Amino acid sequence: MVESVFMAELSWPEWQEKIAHGAIIFIPLGATEQHGPHLPLNVDVILPTAVCERVARKVGGLVAPTLQYGYKSMPRSGGGQTFPGTTSLDAQTFAHTLRDVIRDMGAHGARRFVVVNGHFENAWPSVEGLDLGLRALRQENITDVTAMRLEYWDFVRRETLDRIFPEGFPGTELEHASLIETSLMLLLRPDLVAQDKIPQEGRANFPPYDIFPAPPGYLRGTGVLADARGARAEIGQWLMDDHVALITAAIMKEFGL
Ligand code: ZN
Ligand code: MN
Repeated sequence: MVESVFMAELSWPEWQEKIAHGAIIFIPLGATEQHGPHLPLNVDVILPTAVCERVARKVGGLVAPTLQYGYKSMPRSGGGQTFPGTTSLDAQTFAHTLRDVIRDMGAHGARRFVVVNGHFENAWPSVEGLDLGLRALRQENITDVTAMRLEYWDFVRRETLDRIFPEGFPGTELEHASLIETSLMLLLRPDLVAQDKIPQEGRANFPPYDIFPAPPGYLRGTGVLADARGARAEIGQWLMDDHVALITAAIMKEFGL
């Protein structure tokens, strides 16, 4: 018997047995997206996968393969689609991918899902994919499936944010490739972080609207939206501890564990 929380590392009988015992299936939603000159393109894959792995261990769940591509990057939350390497799906493609995954796993007996988003722009398309997946299963008379959907970064204590941002936390939207993501990468994959390439330019300042196509000077040249200076693995550990503890608690509450 292989002891892994990663679905793809199990044989089909091992998968079937876990499902038969009610294992919760975690589906991490990632992206292949630029994260500045100091981080790799797979930050939004690594981070939700790592959160899912740790929470799945605590609740006896399994982690499905992470969706490697996300919904389109926006200038104000991810730097935009024009950066070389940022490779995205149309919303319908993204939603239908999630729909198909849930439909097939549900058909094979999975009844409890936790969809863990790691890329800001995936939020609403993931709601659509989840809804379509549950609808497809209902059409097969599978009506006892329950699911949670969340952004992992929402699961953090106020005290932790106050410790990281003594001058006040400015909000998640501009955190793209900034202090939080860089600190988590220093915790998980320091080999992929080029700290000497962290931009020295501070926070971006966007108006509260989008312009299509983005006018000259609208995009952040480095692709980093806030400030990654001061990122440390220790900060990443504080965040990860909160993510795992608070998401685990929410799952135990909602699924009655
Ligand atoms: Zn990111
Ligand atoms: Mn992203």
